[in-house]
Amino acid sequence: MPNALYDALFKPHQNNSAAFLRTPDQADYSYQQFLALAAQIANTLVAAGTQPGDRVAVQVHKSAQALALYAACVQCGAVYLPLNTAYTATEVEYFVNDAEPGVVVCNGDAHDALAPIAQRVGAKVLTLNADGSGTLSDAAATTLTTFATVDRTADDLAAILYTSGTTGRSKGAMMSHKNLLSNAQTLVDYWQFSESDVLLHALPIYHTHGLFVASNVTLLAGASMIYLPAFNVDQMIEQLPASTSMMGVPTFYTRLLDDARFDRQRSAHMRLFISGSAPLLAETHEAFEARTGHRILERYGMTETNMNTSNPYDGERRAGTVGFPLPGVSLKITDPETGAPVARGEVGMLEVSGPNVFRGYWRMPEKTAEDLRENGYLITGDLGRMDEDGYVHIVGRNKDLVISGGFNIYPKEIELVLDEQPGVLESAVIGAPHPDFGEGVVALLVASDAIDLEQIKATVAGCLAKFKQPKLYFVIDELPRNTMGKVQKNKLRDAHANAFKPG
Ligand code: AMP
Repeated sequence: MPNALYDALFKPHQNNSAAFLRTPDQADYSYQQFLALAAQIANTLVAAGTQPGDRVAVQVHKSAQALALYAACVQCGAVYLPLNTAYTATEVEYFVNDAEPGVVVCNGDAHDALAPIAQRVGAKVLTLNADGSGTLSDAAATTLTTFATVDRTADDLAAILYTSGTTGRSKGAMMSHKNLLSNAQTLVDYWQFSESDVLLHALPIYHTHGLFVASNVTLLAGASMIYLPAFNVDQMIEQLPASTSMMGVPTFYTRLLDDARFDRQRSAHMRLFISGSAPLLAETHEAFEARTGHRILERYGMTETNMNTSNPYDGERRAGTVGFPLPGVSLKITDPETGAPVARGEVGMLEVSGPNVFRGYWRMPEKTAEDLRENGYLITGDLGRMDEDGYVHIVGRNKDLVISGGFNIYPKEIELVLDEQPGVLESAVIGAPHPDFGEGVVALLVASDAIDLEQIKATVAGCLAKFKQPKLYFVIDELPRNTMGKVQKNKLRDAHANAFKPG
């Protein structure tokens, strides 16, 4: 019995001495070297007691070793569970309790905070630092550079990626070998990736975009990556002439455009710029074309489904749209109340089905049943319409999601913290247009007593990741509500639409 994902993404490269990862500040890795490292990590995970199907929770900085840890999990049949590096120990505790991993891999400086949390679920803790050092690497260095790949079926899980829940509880999206592989195959073909591609990779690898879209596509095509630890405009501009392609969130594009060094000549060698994870403003699309001559290719996806739609490679890349359903992906636009398809051009709920659609939420059958219909269609929570030429336009989100700098933020989670603060009667958290982050988090507080905003900010900083912390606070008299008692966030958004505008 084979291991579909390993056999397609990794195994073909076992004797490939071509470059895979180019890390400007550290050593480069050929495919062969990368796979030897992955095999050593797989040996280490198995020595730590990892069995097929066990979860391996990973909260580490981006490094070659961190990506090899993903490959190692695939090879030894474990379920890779990456966590945002910004999460606090309190936040990580929820994921560890929910997923019950056999191994937790964390940064050395988080060891003492996470060890007792891991211990309570019987997980072993290994460390991996940004420079690749740590107890994981120490142990791996003593093992063989080969590993007998563990068999898996196409429906076995390869990864669990947590998405935040609108009710404040995060949900673990279960991704099978088939889900990941089918999407990578579609994207390599659709975006015409080949082994001559060099992808400029500045995305985080705990999220589907940087992990599956970017890395799986590169691996399947046998291409290479210039692998940066994070987005840094100087490094991006420096590395562009050596790259052929880039995947980014809209913020990457606005930041590049803000720098006068970024010009036509710098991007002359580029074949393709791709954007996703949040809406790319049509004006950014146009400014980018005016500056570079390139039309950004915008696509739409989500953790639960990988990629669903994309603008065409050869045809017209239409600004403000996310293009067409990808081959193999079936998209319906339905009435959110009845589930019946709406007429072409009308706004409705986007629903998708295909081999890319996940296997449900980890240990949450009732949530899975709410979102995933029996006929295989996932109710995405995104509202959109299809124009007369078949291009999909995303017009809003049914959920209350705020997307800031490409990160999804669910207001409820922040509101729960704010509501508990002294002097706060109730709160509402919204996203307001932000020139750099797309949206910025704004908190509206209703007071029951004297409010100490500095104290509240300090408490919030102690328990929520930085990207979730409100950038602005306003104390208001009352929250607008409809007759059903629901807070009318659209009214709050309108009232604070200019909150981040200068002047
Ligand atoms: P995530 O699960 O973090 O990948 O977030 C998925 C959500 O991001 C989707 O449900 C959409 O709301 C949003 N999204 C992703 N790509 C786009 C895009 N190109 N335009 C607008 N929204 C997007």
